[in-house]
Amino acid sequence: MNTPSRAADAGLCGCPVCGLVCDGVADPGRCPRCHCELHSRKPESLSRTWALLTAALILYVPANILPVMYTQSIDSGSAGREDTIFSGVIGFWQSGSWDIAAIIFIASILIPSTKFIVLAVLLVNARRRRVRRPALQAQLYRALEAVGYWSMLDVLVVGLVTAVVKFRGVSEAEPRIGILFFGMVVVLTMLGTLAFDPRLLWDSPSRHPPHG
Ligand SMILES: [Zn+2]
Repeated sequence: MNTPSRAADAGLCGCPVCGLVCDGVADPGRCPRCHCELHSRKPESLSRTWALLTAALILYVPANILPVMYTQSIDSGSAGREDTIFSGVIGFWQSGSWDIAAIIFIASILIPSTKFIVLAVLLVNARRRRVRRPALQAQLYRALEAVGYWSMLDVLVVGLVTAVVKFRGVSEAEPRIGILFFGMVVVLTMLGTLAFDPRLLWDSPSRHPPHG
């Protein structure tokens, strides 16, 4: 496959702040227009992304083990119950609210685990510098970025459910500590996606033999 050459091969570097295409600037250097620091690739991109991904994975454990929500019916007089993400999904499903159950399952179990796997695959491939089908992997990266905007959906659902339950006045609902961990997982994965430099996917030496 004939891959178009990279800007780095032509000695060009785009300024991430003002968009100026800089020619012949040292790496790292400074943008001649806005004096922003320039790098042809994000510095320490792989180690920083690994660090953020590992931190997100570690925090994903308490996010799933600890309760995210507390609910209590006022009329029944029974003790309230605390739900983790998973028991919440099952609870909503059993009570017939399959739509809320589906939203929570997709937003807090399916999407985060898919994000972890995709980011890890991209990292492993970029480190090996032997990327097969980089166009497909670049697509995966763009999907990862796009999904990021919707990652707080679950935190939003807990907020919404709490508000709806309180508004009806028949029961009491409060968020619990687990949701804080979950929020941190979401933020760390987003930062991890940002720290990853997708241009590394195109740096395979076989694709760009060093010029003599
Ligand atoms: Zn600039």
